[in-house]
Amino acid sequence: MDVIKQVRTRYAPSPTGFMHVGNLRTALYEYLIAKSQGGAFVLRIEDTDRERYVEGAVDVIYDTLKLAGISHDEGPDVGGDFGPYVQSERKDMYLPYAEQLIKEGKAYRCFCTKERLEELAQTSEFGGYDRHCRDLSEEEIAQKLKDGEPYVIRQKMPLEGKTTFTDAVFGEITVDNSELQDQILIKTDGYPTYNFANVIDDHTMGITHVVRGSEYLSSTPKYNLLYDAFGWEIPTYVHLPLIMGKNEDGSVSKLSKRHGSTGFEDLIKDGYLPEAIINYIALLGWCPKDNKEIFTMKELEESFFIEGISKSPAVFDYDKLLWMNAEYIKAMSDEEFTERATPYYREALGDLEIDYSKLTAILKQRTEKFTDIPDKIRFFAELPEYDKELFVNKKSKTNLENSPALLQEAYDRLRALDDWSYDSLHDCLINMAVEKELKNGTVLWGVRIAAAGQKVTPGGAFEILELLGREEALKRIEKGLEKLK
Ligand code: GLU
Repeated sequence: MDVIKQVRTRYAPSPTGFMHVGNLRTALYEYLIAKSQGGAFVLRIEDTDRERYVEGAVDVIYDTLKLAGISHDEGPDVGGDFGPYVQSERKDMYLPYAEQLIKEGKAYRCFCTKERLEELAQTSEFGGYDRHCRDLSEEEIAQKLKDGEPYVIRQKMPLEGKTTFTDAVFGEITVDNSELQDQILIKTDGYPTYNFANVIDDHTMGITHVVRGSEYLSSTPKYNLLYDAFGWEIPTYVHLPLIMGKNEDGSVSKLSKRHGSTGFEDLIKDGYLPEAIINYIALLGWCPKDNKEIFTMKELEESFFIEGISKSPAVFDYDKLLWMNAEYIKAMSDEEFTERATPYYREALGDLEIDYSKLTAILKQRTEKFTDIPDKIRFFAELPEYDKELFVNKKSKTNLENSPALLQEAYDRLRALDDWSYDSLHDCLINMAVEKELKNGTVLWGVRIAAAGQKVTPGGAFEILELLGREEALKRIEKGLEKLK
């Protein structure tokens, strides 16, 4: 009977200080593949490339995963049975594996100097290492070791035949072995290359599904030859499609800064909600069985399946993300909206006393991003400079001739009110329209312009008057009257 192995996936970021949406999607899909099958999701930090190392970058990874709601079952901070989970702490475990391959004739020491390799790179027709050291005699090797000559360890690739593997997304892939270079496994300093370390790590951590960007597809045959050399089971490969951006001329090219923000943190700064970003990214290359679009993380965990991943490039559509963001905002309770909008309310209004829940009432259905809020409500704190032409509106039948009298009458009626509540303001101005046989808009247009000093406002005249409060509202209408004189 086959023992069904627990699914184990890993996210293996290099700490570069930046979480590209492509990396985030990889993390998310690894997480979802594990969770949808009751498996474990592992975080491994690949920090061996010291030149790329950025201070504080590991924290960026933790913070991003946390904010995104992607929680790892094992990792440097939470531990687990397969540690250490930071590659630099594993550095001593790779050399013995490479030495084992040397013993078995599947790898060899290469003593070629940097100068020779550089020259080779200029002249070689083979387009890479010419396997100069592949067949050194035992004596030659012994002598060079005795002389302390530095060396790397290279994998001995088969010179003929083909290597085939099946990717869960891209299907069957075959390469001629003659195209494969004798790649370096261990560098002169004794440390592994990424190409070697990822195989050793994935195997020793019991990883069953390797999920990564499709740029790794062409290296996979080399990895598989290593698995074969050790007699290890090859994991299931899930290569993810490219992420493209839409160009102005309608064409697409690899997603980059000129298309918009490409980092998770930057998207957050742009005002997208983490849960909307995650939801959007889940669909960037994966298609659910029904046409459902809005998913909570829990729902994603339940419905994700590998066969739904597409190999055709996914196009990052900022308009779609914005739509999704607005859907998330509309679905919030008023309390949650107020809580999350409060920093933006404060930004625009300072310590102005205003009922935030009433602001929420006029903003929630109209807000696509929280970052849009300050500009929309700044007029509550300060009446903008505006032109009296704003009183002219064809649809409401207002012009510079009728506006002064209309606004004066509205002002007189409002001033006489004891009760400055929404209902009272409403009845007051609607009664005026009824009594004077005018369209509501004819009365309300000028009042709203005077109160807000701008044409487009969240909420109508009653809401704005109520939020401004009696004193400020009347003062602004007086100003409007002044302007119209
Ligand atoms: N450290 C590699 C990267 O960040 C990991 C690639 C992989 O094996 O998934 O690109």
